[in-house]
Order: sequence, then structure tokens, then C-alpha cells
Amino acid sequence: MYWNDLNNNLKAQYNSKVYKLALSSGCTCPNRDGTLGDRGCIFCDGAGAFAEQGDIPAQLEAARDRVAAKAGKNAKYIAYFQSFTNTYGPVERLRKLYTQAMEPEDVVILSVATRPDCLPEETLDLLAELNRTKPVWVELGLQTIHPASARYIRRGYDLPVYEDAVRRLKAAGITVVTHQILGLPGETQHMMAQTAQYIGQSGADGIKFHLLHVLRGTDLAEAWRAGKMQTMELDAYIAALETCVRHLPREIVIHRLTGDGAKRDLLAPLWSGDKKRVLNAIHSAFRRDDVVQGSALM
Ligand code: SF4
Repeated sequence: MYWNDLNNNLKAQYNSKVYKLALSSGCTCPNRDGTLGDRGCIFCDGAGAFAEQGDIPAQLEAARDRVAAKAGKNAKYIAYFQSFTNTYGPVERLRKLYTQAMEPEDVVILSVATRPDCLPEETLDLLAELNRTKPVWVELGLQTIHPASARYIRRGYDLPVYEDAVRRLKAAGITVVTHQILGLPGETQHMMAQTAQYIGQSGADGIKFHLLHVLRGTDLAEAWRAGKMQTMELDAYIAALETCVRHLPREIVIHRLTGDGAKRDLLAPLWSGDKKRVLNAIHSAFRRDDVVQGSALM
């Protein structure tokens, strides 16, 4: 059994566990503000999308408090702008946010989640400049390579846009982490493996796997209630994940094997709310099936 796990990588590099501090940039999203669309991706609940959550030092403080019990004194941190399109705004505003977030000494990485169509040259220059101080990761929500699925989720850009963004980010020396969703309606295990393999060969340095889950208040919830789509069972999710991992080159770092779990607004599948149980089930299946990252590519 082998997969290239983020936590092991970080421990080796920083000699301590590295915790994420989730921050809000207050940026909105072109898929929500009317530029590309006004209902967002089909699964996106948009909660707090436009809300400022306090200034960055105060947010860092609050986020530290949330992990304090497990992190201990010598922990290191990733300042993580996670929700919404965190490069969607004037570059001087972004500069202030990012600089403040990466200022504390124990913040060792800045991670910025965004869309590949929201990386204008001046923002890329800013990220490249900051990357010379501390590593900067940019996370891209690709989710799938299949056009019908991309239309279904209303992603709002085509594959060449992703490819161009990865090329420009890599040329600027920035670490790229790409997100994939498993369980999109109509996608077979083979199709999911095709997406994973594509991401692995796209130049991305890391990948995050998520399960398609239904949140209250989304358009996906309406489709689910109407019986127009179903979510995956745990066994099917694990089987798909195993195939995807086998189709990833060994160099790509796996940041996440499942989504972040327990959500107040989670409607389905309810098993995904128990992240600990899900991770235990994934790890024991990987052991049982001797999953080796990249084995399907040899
Ligand atoms: S790109 Fe992200 S923030 Fe924008 S609608 Fe889609 S999931 Fe929501």
C-alpha cells in the first residue's frame, strides 16, 4: 500500500504537523455575481459568500483558537483562503489580505483557492512575488474533465482555461493543487479515473478528492429531492477513489481523500458527515486492496 500523502510530506519538511487556518477573503465569485452566472455551481451553497469575517489578524487568532487543543505550542500553519474565489478582486486589496495572512512566523504556507479563469497577470505577479517569501499554493476547482459533467455543475469554463492557468502558475513557480469531485451524475468509475489521470499529467503538484454531497439551499438539493440524482454509497466512493489513486503518478501529492465532512446543511449522503469513520474505512480498504499510487500507469 502506498500513496503520496500530504501530511507525511509536510512532517518531513517542517518537522511538525502543519495545521490549516481557514480564512475568509470576502471575495465573491464570477459564477455568482452575474459575470458568468448568478446561481453558482450547482453544489455551492454560497453561505457567507459576500460576508467579511473580520480583519485577517482577528481571523488568524480565531482560527488558531479552533485548532489550539490539538496543535500544541510548536505547530506550524497554512493560511488557507478556502471558500469562494479568493483571487477575485483588486490586486492591492488581495496584497493586503495575503500579506497579513502569511506574516506570522509560524504560518509557513499561503494557500489560495480560486478558479482558473480568475488569474489575471497582475494577480499572478503578486502570487509569484509572495512565493519568494514563503511557499504559495493555488487551488483550482476543476472537478471533472468531462464536458457534460462540467455543464451539469455549471462550472463556467472549459478545459483549455485550466490548462493555461496551470501553465502560467507553474511558470511563476507556484504550487498547484487541483480539486476533483467523485460521484458526479452519469460518471462511471472509468470516467473518474480519466479525470484523475488527466490531473496527474496536467502539471498539478497536488490533488484533493471530494465526494459530491448535497447541501441544503443548493440547486443540487432540488434535483436530489426530485429524485433526479443520487449520491454515492461509501463502498462505491472508496472503489472509485482506489481506481483514481492507481491512475495518479507517484509524484503528485494527495492532499485529501475525502471532503471536509460534517456540515450543518448536509442532506446527502449522510455517511459523509462522519469524516473519521470515512477515513478509517478508506485506509482499511486501501490496506486490504494494497492500493499503490500509480500502479495502473506502469
Ligand atoms: S466557483 Fe466556487 S464559489 Fe463560485 S459558485 Fe462555484 S463552487 Fe461556488
